[in-house]
Amino acid sequence: MKQLEDAVFHRDLTKNYPIITHGKGIYLYDECGKEYIDASSGAVAANLGHSNKKIAQAMFDQASKVGFVHTMRFETEVLHQLATKIVQLAPSTLNKVYFTSGGSEANESAIKLARQYHRDKGNKDKQIVIGRWQSYHGNTLGSLSVGGDVKRRKPYTANLIKTEHIYSPYCHQCPYEYEEEACIRQNNLACANDLARKITELGAENVSAVIMEPIVGSQQGAVVPPKGYFKRVREICDQNDIVLIIDEVMTGFGRTGTNFAIEQFGIEPDIMTFGKGISAGYAPLAGMIVNDKIVDGIIKNSAGQFVHGFTYSGHPVLAATGLAALEVYEEESVLENCQHVSKYVFECLEQLKEASKIISDVRGRGLLIGIELVKDKEKNILFDPKEQVANRVNTSAMDLGAVFYPGSGGIDGLYGEHLIVSPPLNITKKEIDKMVSILTEAIHLVE
Ligand code: PLP
Repeated sequence: MKQLEDAVFHRDLTKNYPIITHGKGIYLYDECGKEYIDASSGAVAANLGHSNKKIAQAMFDQASKVGFVHTMRFETEVLHQLATKIVQLAPSTLNKVYFTSGGSEANESAIKLARQYHRDKGNKDKQIVIGRWQSYHGNTLGSLSVGGDVKRRKPYTANLIKTEHIYSPYCHQCPYEYEEEACIRQNNLACANDLARKITELGAENVSAVIMEPIVGSQQGAVVPPKGYFKRVREICDQNDIVLIIDEVMTGFGRTGTNFAIEQFGIEPDIMTFGKGISAGYAPLAGMIVNDKIVDGIIKNSAGQFVHGFTYSGHPVLAATGLAALEVYEEESVLENCQHVSKYVFECLEQLKEASKIISDVRGRGLLIGIELVKDKEKNILFDPKEQVANRVNTSAMDLGAVFYPGSGGIDGLYGEHLIVSPPLNITKKEIDKMVSILTEAIHLVE
């Protein structure tokens, strides 16, 4: 018998984390009985909190009926029910759902689908995908390539697929050095027009797709684009026959106060990817919702064959989990609660910003909220990244009993570090008071 102290290959092999024995609502409990508010819903996934009995029962019931069938040979009713429900929530032109088991796989699938759509239409050179530096689309090589996580990309430079990047908009500290109001008034939108410039530079005949998060999550901390940004992006994609992929893996299913964040910007993408919130974190379920234009193209030019597939696509237990989660969102008016309490969280965090020396910005939508941390907010002096300030605030918060989602300042030292505040969408005002009070103390400890 092998003698091992710990057989788990942790994310950080030098560390051990508290062992969680159970959860209830917005709370997690470790083996010592310590309570933590899950103020980040894990990685913005556990949108309905923990130990939901209806979801647990649905998983058990489906596994008891049939745990797995391969979608190359069989279908299950539950998969059809889930796909129908997702399509009902999605923008009007998105009518077919392809399932995967994670957000990275969903984006990988979207990149490949866009490529196949063009290739089979005769546009053989349309291969490059344009992403943005301040963005994250996953960790598999394709999804990593289109994202902007410089640290995770660096070791694989030689393995990444053909991609190009532009900057994401960030009006608080515009990377194009415009002043926000003047920029919008003059309809400059340099950040969106940079996409047109990049396409001209590459040649539209070489560009397959553009991929963007509607509100940037982990790489920027809930930054909302300026008015008109996505309308201009949609226009540029249409003019150049480029597939627009919107990554709603973090934002989908009510996180930003609407079913999908892109609804708030008045456009419809060609492909929309989702993950996390669809199962509220209870199972690894994700996928993409595809518009009629692409589906018709695959039927007409590829005999209906998308050359792709995973063993666990359309897994019946995962589908039952997603279906139950969507029912809970609806039955418990979770979206309405998110809209209702969001205003209150913003008010509390704005107050905290005024009282704090290091919070320079509070932004986001719904319950995807970012707070930016800088050394001197009057002079806008950033912390040295080595100080790991966001991580330190989160460590203090964990000691005090709440977990947030810290993030770095992105590339080129352009921005401050941030902390994402993204509790389960069914959080109450009383629970919010407790969460904000812990955050306030954690910030003061680091200031
Ligand atoms: N896209 C976005 C916007 C994400 O936030 C994430 C994960 O954080 C992913 C894709 C990747 O999803 P997964 O970790 O499920 O592969």
